Amino acid sequence: MTRAFRLAFAVALLAALVAPPALAADPRLPTVVVLATGGTIAGAAASDVQAGYTSGQVGVEQLLAAVPQAKKLAVMRGEQVANIGSQDMNDEVWLKLARRVNEIAAMPDVDGIVITHGTDTIEETGYFLNLVVKSKKPVVLTAAMRPSTALSADGPLNFYNAVAVAANKDAAGRGVLVVVNDWIHGASSLTKASTTAVQTFLSPLRGLVGVVAYGEAEFYRGPVGRNTVDSEFSLDGVTALPRVDIVMAHENMDGAIIDAAVAAGAKGIVIAGVGNGNMTEAGLKALATQAKKGIVCVRSSRVVTGRVGRNVEIDDDKLALVASDDLNPQKSRVLLRLALLKPRSLAEIQRLFVEY
Ligand code: ASP
Repeated sequence: MTRAFRLAFAVALLAALVAPPALAADPRLPTVVVLATGGTIAGAAASDVQAGYTSGQVGVEQLLAAVPQAKKLAVMRGEQVANIGSQDMNDEVWLKLARRVNEIAAMPDVDGIVITHGTDTIEETGYFLNLVVKSKKPVVLTAAMRPSTALSADGPLNFYNAVAVAANKDAAGRGVLVVVNDWIHGASSLTKASTTAVQTFLSPLRGLVGVVAYGEAEFYRGPVGRNTVDSEFSLDGVTALPRVDIVMAHENMDGAIIDAAVAAGAKGIVIAGVGNGNMTEAGLKALATQAKKGIVCVRSSRVVTGRVGRNVEIDDDKLALVASDDLNPQKSRVLLRLALLKPRSLAEIQRLFVEY
């Protein structure tokens, strides 16, 4: 061994000894906590080309391990909040999830939160969190249309993009976000528009907050509607949410379902109306009768896009009804449940539908 070679070898050895181990967490990376709730993103099927599968089969640790590329974006830790198909989403999971998001967001070492969820009700959970999370830190929901075992599964890249957005400082203060199929939606705007297509989510009226491709995010604007730290809603002391039912309007509608909802304990009713929140004379009569008794009745629309304005074809002032503005029936229900946590006048509830 020549002297020069011995010197080079010694320098290389020293460098290897002082260098951090290759697998150690990079202290400069943001910290993202992943809360898993189930859904198709954690779903599994017996083969890679079959339509039938079961949601919520894969645990959070498997989910993290399946996308090792995301470890270059953030230091991650995972928690399993639930493992259900989101068609089974319920108040117990909502309250637990919202409390945990608030706790984690308050931790100084946490930069962002990713929530994995099913696509069926992600717009409702996202909007609920948008109203009750008290933090400007990025809270990003993501999902998948195809189970983890499918040919061309969309979950891994959606997850990667969601981690990238949650780790991105520019995502802060934009309300709760939903990242699916390269698009960044505001939780208040998105809606599921296809039962099976990967490009299922749209943000009609309010538009996209931004886009994200292979982790590179571009933000176009802030959220529309009051949210998170600017929201007047809080879950402090809340153990249950009031019942609000959605009734869909249709040809030959009568008032039977409206009356049945109230009999079942609904304190509020949201009509998924035809057109601009319309319904039959019989439906309207039943609704106005319940409104007079103090049930809060909101007119929304079963049409996928467009606002429902006050006093257009229906005299809301005279019948004591609320117009949903641009919230669809499922989001109107979420807002109304929170609104009914304390006594409010109809004028105040109408204000909420305009502001949120
Ligand atoms: N039913 C599934 C769920 O919402 C669908 C999905 O995740 O795409 O959990």
